[in-house]
Amino acid sequence: MKLHMQILIALGLGLKRNWHIFFGLIAGIFVGIFLHGHESVLINKILMFIGQVFIRLIQMVVIPLVISAIVIGITSIGDNKQLGKYGSKMIVYYGIITVIAVTLGAFLALAIKPGVGAAQYINANSAVSIQQNVAASIEQQKGNVLNIFLNFIPKNPLESVAKGDMISIIVFALIFAIALAKVGEINRPVVSFFESIFAATMKVTDWIMYFAAPGVFALTATAVSSFGIDIFQSISKYLFVLAIGFVIQFFIVYPSFLKIFSKVPVVMLYTAIAEAMMVAFGTASSSATLPLTIACCEKRGISHKISSFVLPLGATLNMDGTALLQTVAVIFLAQAYGVHLTAFLIIQICVLAIIASSTCAGIPGAGLITIALILNGMGLSPEQLVAGFAFLFTFDRLSDMFRTVLNVTSDAVVAATIADNENEINYDLLNNPEAYKEII
Ligand code: ASP
Repeated sequence: MKLHMQILIALGLGLKRNWHIFFGLIAGIFVGIFLHGHESVLINKILMFIGQVFIRLIQMVVIPLVISAIVIGITSIGDNKQLGKYGSKMIVYYGIITVIAVTLGAFLALAIKPGVGAAQYINANSAVSIQQNVAASIEQQKGNVLNIFLNFIPKNPLESVAKGDMISIIVFALIFAIALAKVGEINRPVVSFFESIFAATMKVTDWIMYFAAPGVFALTATAVSSFGIDIFQSISKYLFVLAIGFVIQFFIVYPSFLKIFSKVPVVMLYTAIAEAMMVAFGTASSSATLPLTIACCEKRGISHKISSFVLPLGATLNMDGTALLQTVAVIFLAQAYGVHLTAFLIIQICVLAIIASSTCAGIPGAGLITIALILNGMGLSPEQLVAGFAFLFTFDRLSDMFRTVLNVTSDAVVAATIADNENEINYDLLNNPEAYKEII
């Protein structure tokens, strides 16, 4: 074998696998850009297949993992007082991060005004076929907010499991786990059962991660090839606002949050969850990334008690990246269609974005669907609503990949902060990446 090939192979085998995922991601971006101009049905099909195999495998473990993690997490926390303390901290911290995200989104969108003059692109870009699909989903979201919350309570938990309805699964698991914690010693067989399930799902996650690099490569290439780079020209201002928002949230807000509320070093935390961030980018799904987020946090120093309680809830309820996008997107459309943005309307948008983001599932594109909840009260005509919504749809995947990274990162930031506050973090492990066990 030629020397340069030998070196390449040796490099490939010697590198840690998180680098493999990183290279997969970068290669996916380049291949996607190339494919955009050179449509090849066969290559697209193969990439789609590889990407779907990865997503399906990882989704396969999510439900058993979430239920078992919550049961073990809550029963290990044990007494009511501690549970209340962790729970209220979690809500306050997630709340702070999301409020900052919507405020930041509103501030940037009002200052940079990406929507002014954009109506022509919106009308030109909205394909009729997309508009038809969109009209249906706007209609679906018209139900009032109370109904959305009502649907969180599962009538039949098995039906929720079958449908993969994460929020109601979590509601059931929470109630069931609290009850188990209350009944005392008699809960041992059930808790042991879930402990075994949890351990097995973590093992399966380990195996699936061998497939992460090709999976992330294929998913990224497929996503990028669907929008190419010409998209940047027509909506550059809108994307610019989003990009600044995401960058500020990631590089300023989270690090400041960690500094104010804990002594967790941000670089170490970001290193610890790097694989989860990359998988979040590739899959655009916080639910699908959850097994990896839990594995990264637990194996790198955040206690099982905290990770298994805070992360599953965060993966469905804490969507600050989504909230930021929703605020910017709604203000963008309002500006494009000349809606007068009063202070009251802006506050209404921000509050609804917090609700809409936390009711959205951790799956690709969910954030855009729940945006209808906010848009419905904006005074846009039905045609404008449909055209605007369809316009946002055409390039949603791009922002979805980035906002999902934020959603996943902020879950870990909050978990690490609570773990720090409660002495549930092993700093020797977190601060020493050499000691990290490979999770993939
Ligand atoms: N894809 C996002 C997530 O899974 C949700 C969204 O904003 O669409 O976190």
